[in-house]
Amino acid sequence: MKLACISLEMHPRRPFRISRGWRAEVRNVFVRIERDGIPGYGEAAPINYYQETWQSVMAKIENAREFLSTLNLQSVTDIEGAWMELWPLVAPSRAAQCALDLALWDWLGRRRGVSASQLAWNAAARPVTTFCTIGLSDQEELIAKVAEARDFPQIKIKASSDASLDAVRYTRAHTDALIAVDANCAWESADLHSLSRELAGLGVAFIEQPFPPVRDAELSKASALLPLMADESCVTEEDVERAAGRYSGCNIKLVKCGGITPALRMARRCRALGLRPMVGCMLESSALISAGAVVAQGADFADLDGAWLLSDDPFDGWAFDRGILRPPASPGLGLTPREKWFPEQG
Ligand SMILES: [Mg+2]
Repeated sequence: MKLACISLEMHPRRPFRISRGWRAEVRNVFVRIERDGIPGYGEAAPINYYQETWQSVMAKIENAREFLSTLNLQSVTDIEGAWMELWPLVAPSRAAQCALDLALWDWLGRRRGVSASQLAWNAAARPVTTFCTIGLSDQEELIAKVAEARDFPQIKIKASSDASLDAVRYTRAHTDALIAVDANCAWESADLHSLSRELAGLGVAFIEQPFPPVRDAELSKASALLPLMADESCVTEEDVERAAGRYSGCNIKLVKCGGITPALRMARRCRALGLRPMVGCMLESSALISAGAVVAQGADFADLDGAWLLSDDPFDGWAFDRGILRPPASPGLGLTPREKWFPEQG
């Protein structure tokens, strides 16, 4: 297979708040593989928190060029084998492994003329209801964001270290959405028991990652009156085992674990352990979001609004329709690049 790899700067529709200020851009890495005139597209969203940058991811992807040139891909089993063989070439970058894994799923689906969902689940893709995330916001921003998402079915609200629930109360008062709260590890000094009681009273469905992963041992289902979902505490496949007994479910993200291949195993392992699988995202184009929607066919929750939050998505894929992702009719991941930004020769 021929390989091309580029990084693209993309822009959120609204600048978003991070711990030390604001960001108005994100730079993701995209790959295109090709054989027999059939392309396959993949994406990585490198995250500093997981020690990945677009430069480090691109360098690791380059290490896979020779392997891909001789790869013979006929089946999902072949993808699983390739995923294992790619790891020594791209380690420690799960993001690089993710971008390549997506491209293999996309290529195989296109080759067979079926969707990646059909390959993964042996069933046609169903629409996916997704959370729409409201980030840390001042009052004016909150009012605008809730107005935009008013009739969306599910809203996830980010909470900060002050553990203020004002945004949750405001959202509850102005929408009928299913609400979840994501603390992003920030509730270190908060009383989880009383917070969860208050949130349960507001009809909140679950709390995501209240404490940093180092404090997982303190979590027990008894301390919180709501289900707890692991995000930063559930990165790769091994973490699913540890989540059992501490969390009620896992937020599986393809770029954390290495693509569709391990994410499917994680979703299935969650089920076997009595955990609720959820599929989440970073700020991602429709390439990664469409791959997430494939895994979400077997999940209880999806948080796949990343591409909707962008002003310049380089792909058409699963379409965001007021909180519902609708599957495209085309094979593979169903992606159409919006611009011709990949070189012809890899
Ligand atoms: Mg989260």
